[in-house]
Amino acid sequence: MPGKRLEGVVASEGVAVGPAFVHAHVELANDLELHSEVEERVRGLQSPEAAVLAVGEEFAALFAAMEDEYMAARSDDVRDVTGQIAAQLMGLQASGLAGLSVPSVVLARNLAPSETARMPRDMVLGLVTAEGSKTSHVSIMARSMGIPAVVGLGGAGLEEALGAGVVAVHGDQGYIVTDPDAGEVAFFEGEQDEAVARRTALAEYRHVEARTRGGRRIEVAANLGSPKEAADALSWGAEGVGLFRTEFLFMERDELPTEEEQYGVYREVTEAFGEKPVIIRTIDVGGDKDLPGVSGHEEENPFLGWRGIRMSLDVPDLFRPQLRAILRAAAHGNLKVMFPMVSDVEELVAARRLLAECHKELESEGARTGPVEAGVMVETPAAALCAEELAREADFFSIGTNDLTQYTLAVDRGNEKLEKLYRADHPAVLRLIEMTCRAGDKAGIQTGVCGEAAGDPALVPKLVALGVTEMSMSPPAIPRAKKVVSELP
Ligand code: PEP
Ligand code: MG
Repeated sequence: MPGKRLEGVVASEGVAVGPAFVHAHVELANDLELHSEVEERVRGLQSPEAAVLAVGEEFAALFAAMEDEYMAARSDDVRDVTGQIAAQLMGLQASGLAGLSVPSVVLARNLAPSETARMPRDMVLGLVTAEGSKTSHVSIMARSMGIPAVVGLGGAGLEEALGAGVVAVHGDQGYIVTDPDAGEVAFFEGEQDEAVARRTALAEYRHVEARTRGGRRIEVAANLGSPKEAADALSWGAEGVGLFRTEFLFMERDELPTEEEQYGVYREVTEAFGEKPVIIRTIDVGGDKDLPGVSGHEEENPFLGWRGIRMSLDVPDLFRPQLRAILRAAAHGNLKVMFPMVSDVEELVAARRLLAECHKELESEGARTGPVEAGVMVETPAAALCAEELAREADFFSIGTNDLTQYTLAVDRGNEKLEKLYRADHPAVLRLIEMTCRAGDKAGIQTGVCGEAAGDPALVPKLVALGVTEMSMSPPAIPRAKKVVSELP
């Protein structure tokens, strides 16, 4: 019998078939009240699976009705937990992600970036979530890791998928098939072979220097979240790192990393790239990236809240060790620093002042440091509109189209319901990109793009035409971007 096809959103390319693994928040499963409610229903002769799901729904509704936003958001966690327990009762595998020991397709309502970062890469064949969109961080991370992913399946879609033993994921087309029959499995395997063949055909572009036919040189770099990804990125042909997301380093663990540990990480990544430029972005938590103990869930509008450079400037105890670690690691390679979420020249000036102070401090301590260029991520409309002023204080620009798109269009980048409205090629976004490139050009500084638009082959020609000279993307997207550039006039 054919399986059930469920539509979602294209998040990360590739095709996978494997046993389903239901991920949920295990801590909640120990709730005593939940236990006694389930027991009561089972005594009333309801099946344990149905009892767990029903009690989960009741509890979720209670949480959802709470005024406190944080508590209201727990309703999803409750559903996740009860979904997981029910899956286990049905004989399907389900436990914490870190303990995943059989290569599987992971099903989850949502995955926090911290959870995604902790996933055992080799055990995750594919990823399917109810929530999320192409530019939510779970999708970005799946792309970097080369894991086929479909997100935004919706709550009802996920509920249907939860009972499946096997799931086939079509990351190129954004759908899944639960419990595929033999014919469908054969189809997915064929698609897998074709995807591999397409990748192989692009292999010749991996190590070329991308140049348009007219001779314009475009640097094609990688977005990384960990030094572990450096070797892979180099093998895809990365000409540097256009965005090293440092926040994942903070999220992979329970305590904040010390200056020494950060120094080790930044040094490792810059040494891996030798002479090639490596741009370290200072910590950008907030928005959809929570950092327990530093940022919180309590904001009404986290994406418009205390995030990026705003938070760093307010918490020097967090910011200074990071800047010091970057300055020290710069002694070992071609390291640059970049500040996220800048919306005012004063923020850049303050960050640079702190960088200079840290540099002096290190010199007076006799520490080895290197010169560090300081750039700005242009990801708020304010930054693009003030690009001329910013260009006077910045050594380079890198446009973060993920946030720039959501802020320009007032469209939440993580909301699957708004997928059609979220367009990095909207004329308003393109105009802001053009303004930024012009301001960068006038000041003689480089303007790159490190948002997901850079790895989208349909957008690369537009970005190059607008004046972008560097593009940074998830490593597997590099050969195709180089091909597209080399075919431009
Ligand atoms: C962006 O906003 O485009 C970007 C690259 O940063 P992040 O996706 O980490 O917010
Ligand atoms: Mg951003």
